[in-house]
Amino acid sequence: MTAVATQEKPSFSYSGRFAPSPTGPLHFGSLITAVASYCDAKAHQGKWLVRVEDTDIPRIYPGSEEHILTSLEAFQFETDAEIIFQKNRLDIYESVLDQLKKEGLIYACQCTRKMLGSNAIYAGTCRNLNLDFQDQAIRVKVKDQQICFDDRLQGLHCSNLQHDLGDFVLKRRDGIINYQLAVVVDDYLQGITHVVRGSDLLDNTERQIWLGELLGYPKLSYMHLPLAMNDQGQKLSKQNLAQALDLSKAPELLQQAIQALGQPNVDLDRPEVMLKQAVAQWNIDLIPHGQELSGRYL
Ligand code: GLU
Repeated sequence: MTAVATQEKPSFSYSGRFAPSPTGPLHFGSLITAVASYCDAKAHQGKWLVRVEDTDIPRIYPGSEEHILTSLEAFQFETDAEIIFQKNRLDIYESVLDQLKKEGLIYACQCTRKMLGSNAIYAGTCRNLNLDFQDQAIRVKVKDQQICFDDRLQGLHCSNLQHDLGDFVLKRRDGIINYQLAVVVDDYLQGITHVVRGSDLLDNTERQIWLGELLGYPKLSYMHLPLAMNDQGQKLSKQNLAQALDLSKAPELLQQAIQALGQPNVDLDRPEVMLKQAVAQWNIDLIPHGQELSGRYL
């Protein structure tokens, strides 16, 4: 299939991004991702873009979009393009679905969560039923094929989507565009070349590579960072009551995030100056390996 030219695509040798979901205020774990994606892009003379991933309207936490934008300003990150919001781009995702439909690569699925039970692997029940797409979930077909990528931190990671997952959902029955589709389309349309994000998303990557291949998009480079954990050994997240970043302590928090990434210390200063120093000193060989940081955070 040829790439969907829904929008002009810029092309840079390195384009990275930070793509928070507004399901809660930014916490220390998100700051680590923002800092790493920023420093890696800038250390490669690349662009750094921000995209708010807000297609899942019911999960949006009131006020968190504003908190994300205010935080990015407080930490003085400079974005190289206007921030985009996925909820304003639904027609683009729909046009990609239309294209996949024409190619016979997706189908409507009427299975409810109840019907699927606890089966983690979708058996393809609706694959050949030829159901009408109206008010149904939409799944993409996968193949019995090993998909591998060489993560810059986590090494070789492989999955056979058919064995591990089955055909997966691109649009939910309630009409919500799934993260997997929106992320792949926007990484392409924003000209992203390098993805730097938390290792909680490592297992999503083969799905995204598969979709990108179906759509004829170029391959991306991936780096999945170790996650910040709380003192109970849980990933920092809204569900685990991670604290919102205290923006009055931006320099101190930035210094801690840079330290958590194993980078040389930066002097306390205005965030802009600290980020410049962090970029100049950026060395991915110093980032702790593995999927969790050993320190404990709030
Ligand atoms: N929006 C996702 C999140 O906040 C990140 C997506 C990505 O970086 O690919 O977890």
